[in-house]
Amino acid sequence: MLELRNLHVAYESGDVVRGVNLTVNQGEIVGLIGANGAGKSTMMKSISGLVPSRQGQILFHGQDITRTAPDRIPHIGISHVPEGRRVFGDLTVEENLHLGGYRHRNQDLSADFERVYQLFPILRERKKQRAGLMSGGEQQMLALGRALMSRPSFLILDEPSLGLAPLMVQSVFRLIREIHENGVTILLVEQNVELALRHVHRAYIIQSGQVVMQGTPEELRQNGNLMDAYLGAK
Ligand code: ATP
Repeated sequence: MLELRNLHVAYESGDVVRGVNLTVNQGEIVGLIGANGAGKSTMMKSISGLVPSRQGQILFHGQDITRTAPDRIPHIGISHVPEGRRVFGDLTVEENLHLGGYRHRNQDLSADFERVYQLFPILRERKKQRAGLMSGGEQQMLALGRALMSRPSFLILDEPSLGLAPLMVQSVFRLIREIHENGVTILLVEQNVELALRHVHRAYIIQSGQVVMQGTPEELRQNGNLMDAYLGAK
C-alpha cells in the first residue's frame, strides 16, 4: 500500500534519512521505532509532503507521490497525526473536527461526527469546549478524531503516547486498535519499544536515519540485545 524506496531526506544541518526502504501492506499496523533524533518524524513528514526528499521514491497504491503537496495528501487517503498533537487550542472540539473534515466540506459530515463521537464519547461531551483546555490525553483523542474526519485509508501516528499518563496511553492504544479494526492501515512511530511491539504486526528499527533491523515483534524480541544496542538502551 505504501512503499518508501531508497528515501533520503536532508536538512541544512545534514542527512537525516539515509536510504530507507520500507513497506506497509494494506491492513497492517507497522511500527517505526528509534531513539530521539533517529529521523522518524522526518520520514513521516516527507510522506505527507511537509519535507521534500532529496532522493528516492514514495509510492502509495503503486502511484508515485514523492512530490505531492501536503494539502493534496488527505485527498489520496493519507492522514497524519503529528508529534505533539497540534490541535487548535482556541477553537472548540467541534470546530477542530470540522477542520479535519475539510476534504469533504461539501458533503454532510453528520455520519463522520457520529462515528468519531462513538469512538471517543469524551469528545461529544466536550464538543463546545475550547480544545486548549483539555488534558493531553483528550487532545490526543481529538487529534485522532480530527484525522478520522478526513476518512483516511492510511493513518500516520507520530508518538501518540508521548507525555500521557499510563492509563491514558492504554486508552489511546485501545482506540488505535479499534480504528485499525475499522479498516484503516496504520504507520506508527513509537519510542516505547514494548508498547510498540505489543500493538504492531511488524516494525522497523531506525538508527541514524537508516533501517537497522526489521521483523515481527516475535523476531525482534528474539534479537532483543541487538535491538537494545541500536536503541541505546542500557
Ligand atoms: P524525535 O522522536 O526526537 O522527534 P525523530 O527520530 O523523530 O526523533 P527527527 O525529529 O526526524 O527525529 O529529527 C532527526 C534529526 O533532524 C535531528 O537531529 C533533528 O535535530 C533534525 N531536524 C529535525 N527537524 C529539523 C528541521 N526542521 N531543520 C533542521 N534539522 C531538523
